[in-house]
Amino acid sequence: MEFNNKQKTEFICDTMFGKLARWIRMAGYSAIYIKNSERQKFLKNFNLRKNQIFITSDSKILKMDIKIFYLTEENIFLQFKILKEKFHLSFDNAFTICMECNYPLKSINKEKVKDKIPEYVFKNFNDFYECEQCKRLYWKGTHFIEMQKKLNEI
Ligand SMILES: [Zn+2]
Repeated sequence: MEFNNKQKTEFICDTMFGKLARWIRMAGYSAIYIKNSERQKFLKNFNLRKNQIFITSDSKILKMDIKIFYLTEENIFLQFKILKEKFHLSFDNAFTICMECNYPLKSINKEKVKDKIPEYVFKNFNDFYECEQCKRLYWKGTHFIEMQKKLNEI
């Protein structure tokens, strides 16, 4: 499987991989999530672009397409670890994509978000990012550090 241009690679996560889609985005890769209500339509028109990889655990999808990646692991940490190893994901581009809506994040001045974040966050962290679409705020906080630590331990 060609996987040279990781910047442009886009993962398409099947209905059962909503959480994984959020994690992929957190690492800075684009991930489209297929909602239950959209699944029929998606499968009917199944047509992946060159840079797209479809992640599913549904073995009934018999299309022999090398860009389908079957994943049967249920633990989110292990799911992400498998993906990380298979596709050489890194956290180099972490905090560039919104976990919720897959839109780009932009850096935002700390002072501008002062009123929107807990005081301890303001005191302890310096780099903040805002989603241009849903206006959600992100920072490289304790949760992110803990998650990376746990991924390294597995
Ligand atoms: Zn967003």
